[in-house]
Amino acid sequence: MYSQAEENYLKTIYALEREYGNEVSTNLIANKIKTKASSVTDMLKKLALKKLVIYKKYQGVYLTEPGRLTALRVIRKHRLWECFLVQKLNFKWDEVHDIAEQLEHVKSELLISKLDAFLRFPKLDPHGDPIPDEQGRIIKRQTMSIVEMKIGASGTLVGVKDSSETFLKYLNKKNLGLGDKVKVIDIEPYDNSYHIETKTHRLVITSNVAENLLIKNVKR
Ligand SMILES: [Zn+2]
Repeated sequence: MYSQAEENYLKTIYALEREYGNEVSTNLIANKIKTKASSVTDMLKKLALKKLVIYKKYQGVYLTEPGRLTALRVIRKHRLWECFLVQKLNFKWDEVHDIAEQLEHVKSELLISKLDAFLRFPKLDPHGDPIPDEQGRIIKRQTMSIVEMKIGASGTLVGVKDSSETFLKYLNKKNLGLGDKVKVIDIEPYDNSYHIETKTHRLVITSNVAENLLIKNVKR
């Protein structure tokens, strides 16, 4: 069994590998979890001894198969708990991430498989992210962010890249939620803001916001 800190590192490395597509540098990790590079190095050495990562000084780090599996198990727990909090305890989608950060470290595999069954084996968490199965298999979603869409294109909002409370609160305020049909009406050349339309209203969002919205079934 691994400590919370170790699990959090594995999860962070997994996310960074996915984002950057190759070995992850110590500085990248330090930035992401807001800690000193020297503490990161200490932890990476520890994880390497446990054969969870391959760590080469000055080159960076990547997950071994057991490391990847451990990261995916933590992610699985996190996302199942988020489903539970929203579906069964009526939390809002912007309230669950921090609580799930605590619950994701629960050790009992039996609890998690019962939770999975209780929720009827959900495929996606409340933010639209896929939930890995017990073997660590995870579906890839065919989505694109709004910034990749052309004027006139439309699709369904199925996920968010940024699931922070502030971003989700912002979406609530703008009356945007998962499942909404979204159409790009215009792109403002001056500041790259996006004029978009849903079934109920029109609004303008910054390119930063557009970047963080994931759309499926895009049609031109
Ligand atoms: Zn979360």
